[in-house]
Amino acid sequence: QKAEWALLKDADTITADGKHFELAANIGTPKDVVGVNDNGGEAVGLYRTEFLYMDSQDFPTEDEQYEAYKAVLEGMNGKPVVVRTMDIGGDKELPYFDLPKEMNPFLGYRALRISLSEGGDTMFRTQLRALLRSSVHGKLRIMFPMVALVTEFRAAKKVFDEEKANLLAEGVAVADDIQVGIMIEIPAAAMLADQFAKEVDFFSIGTNDLIQYTMAADRMNEQVSYLYQPYNPSILRLINNVIKAAHAEGKWAGMCGEMAGDQTAVPLLVGMGLDEFSMSATSILQTRSLMKRLDTAKMQELANKALTECATMEEVVALVEDYTK
Ligand code: PEP
Ligand code: MG
Repeated sequence: QKAEWALLKDADTITADGKHFELAANIGTPKDVVGVNDNGGEAVGLYRTEFLYMDSQDFPTEDEQYEAYKAVLEGMNGKPVVVRTMDIGGDKELPYFDLPKEMNPFLGYRALRISLSEGGDTMFRTQLRALLRSSVHGKLRIMFPMVALVTEFRAAKKVFDEEKANLLAEGVAVADDIQVGIMIEIPAAAMLADQFAKEVDFFSIGTNDLIQYTMAADRMNEQVSYLYQPYNPSILRLINNVIKAAHAEGKWAGMCGEMAGDQTAVPLLVGMGLDEFSMSATSILQTRSLMKRLDTAKMQELANKALTECATMEEVVALVEDYTK
């Protein structure tokens, strides 16, 4: 099996009936790019930039960040790179950044909420300037984490536009085709995806958090881990809503949560028409091999059944087994 996968390293990701899907990788540092290329990744679908902050003794400077982003863009050689602005807070603390202790860190002051607040906005501007400067070295896409409100996206996009204008005024070159999108990881945004889709360039569904927030089950708590159900029909319906909303506005929808590389979920996601699957690099070849065996019309039928007829996760799993054997 491993030998079969190795042969797929430079192959396109094509289903049995000839449809293309993009297989991308999640990375945490520029060093991870080697693994993406070694495993035949077609893009970086999620660069978690918070490691740049977590591995540092102080806030990383604009130049330090620029070098990291440039290294990833150049390493990917013109293939798309989706960089997520910092997702600090929640379970991710910084020794040099005094965040308040909270009762519910996952529901608190984190990610874009910090970036848009007084005190966090300087960090955000520094990061966006570094990203904008790096954009001439490859195909950069930027996304914001933990967006709940359309007005949050507008506020973040405004800062992006301002820093872009500042750099251009300073005579610094900036790419003019940078897509700006959001992560869909809060149920409110998943429900309102049709409105978001009018304003963003793309969605990337973060199922790790989307499942946690939809099920009201802490993703780190073993005692409630039985509620962590990627195949629950409620989760599938949210995902389907997001994909359909994106397509209605001519936008693309990807997924960068663990579910994107899950071999039971992939047939369902192919059936729902997800455009981009971003996973750990080591899952890419296995997923490419699986997709080669799938027929999209049949997977659409499978997804429709799961979305309309199933009540439980177990029913969904049985249906997938039935359709993929
Ligand atoms: C997610 O929430 O699904 C996600 C990809 O982000 P993280 O795991 O970094 O929270
Ligand atoms: Mg998340």
